[in-house]
Amino acid sequence: MKISQRVQDLAESGTIAVSNKVAAMRAQGIDVVSLGAGEPDFDTPDHIKAAAAEALGGGETKYAKPASGVPELKQAVVAKLQRENGLSYTTDQVVASVGGKEALYLAFATLLDPGDEVIIPAPYWVSYPEQVKLAGGVPVFVDAGADAGFRITPDQLRDALTPRTRVLVFNSPSNPTGAAYSPEETDALAAVLADTDVVTFSDEMYDRLLFGGRTFKSFAATSDHAYDHTITFNAGSKTYSMTGWRIGYAAGPVDVIKGMAKLQSQTTSGAATFTMHALAAALDGDQSCVEVMRAEFERRGKFLSDRLNALDGVVCPEPGGAFYAFPDVSGTFEAKGVSGSTEWAGRLLEDAHVGVVPGSDFGADSCVRLSFATSMAVLETALDRIEGFLA
Ligand code: PLP
Repeated sequence: MKISQRVQDLAESGTIAVSNKVAAMRAQGIDVVSLGAGEPDFDTPDHIKAAAAEALGGGETKYAKPASGVPELKQAVVAKLQRENGLSYTTDQVVASVGGKEALYLAFATLLDPGDEVIIPAPYWVSYPEQVKLAGGVPVFVDAGADAGFRITPDQLRDALTPRTRVLVFNSPSNPTGAAYSPEETDALAAVLADTDVVTFSDEMYDRLLFGGRTFKSFAATSDHAYDHTITFNAGSKTYSMTGWRIGYAAGPVDVIKGMAKLQSQTTSGAATFTMHALAAALDGDQSCVEVMRAEFERRGKFLSDRLNALDGVVCPEPGGAFYAFPDVSGTFEAKGVSGSTEWAGRLLEDAHVGVVPGSDFGADSCVRLSFATSMAVLETALDRIEGFLA
């Protein structure tokens, strides 16, 4: 059957390709350690599961009313954004979604017309360019390598602006790099857009997973102008270890949120009702579970970057947040006889039985992504094997 050009043009997810290869090797009895996962290794906290069970027991088994989110969740999101991010939204400025991913896609589709440009700092999360293209937009990449701590500068942003620029994607802390912008750096980037109509998509999935005493500043909190021109995205996925629940949300200007809800009503009819109640309980409930996970991620991130930086030809900025390290391994390409990150990751998997994701998937072919959403024991084994691979 003929597959549409739109879908033919869509890139396959390399993260999934690595998982498949790891699974196939394991099925052959090979002891593979995988650092490919993009999800916390912790279980969802019990009080969140209990809230879902209670919702199911109470008959919350029908379409959510409205599909864009039950009032309890919208109120919990409004309270979270006020309490933690200093942002004042009303419930009609919030839409709940099938994970953070659906909210991002709905927003691109709501705002972009054919040819509109979207500035995406690289390295970037894999789905941004594909979602932009699906929505008819044109991704414009701005590169920031390991030497820049994977953070773009205000001058770079200014230089990338054109009359067709419609959206800036801003993701801090970042998947895949673990880089986190300071509040001052966030202010400085927002200032570049102060006299433009560019809309910023602030992907704040990892806002609670910050290390080294860093503080978080939402892009929308930088100025009144930024507040009016920002859509803030978040989800239960990373903060509360709820990746499989598929529940996220966005907050922003009423007209954009309305457009997103209209599109959602004709596509998915939104997230599952009982997961909305679970996320409301997560946001309203005791937050100590987040600190337990955050502290453990910080310990692992430091361990990983210290061990990686001790290797010849490897440069790894210490992760500022999230649960990814993104070492530049190009200094080892020649010795290993490889031409890029895909070959490097393939060789590491074949020879040392360690799964990592090639940086080429994220727009950075000199790097690979290592997730530390896995136990210390697994990380130690993986690092021992990588050391052996590069010896
Ligand atoms: N944005 C970033 C930066 C992510 O890393 C992810 C998940 O990997 C998402 C969005 C999507 O999250 P969700 O699983 O809630 O759809």
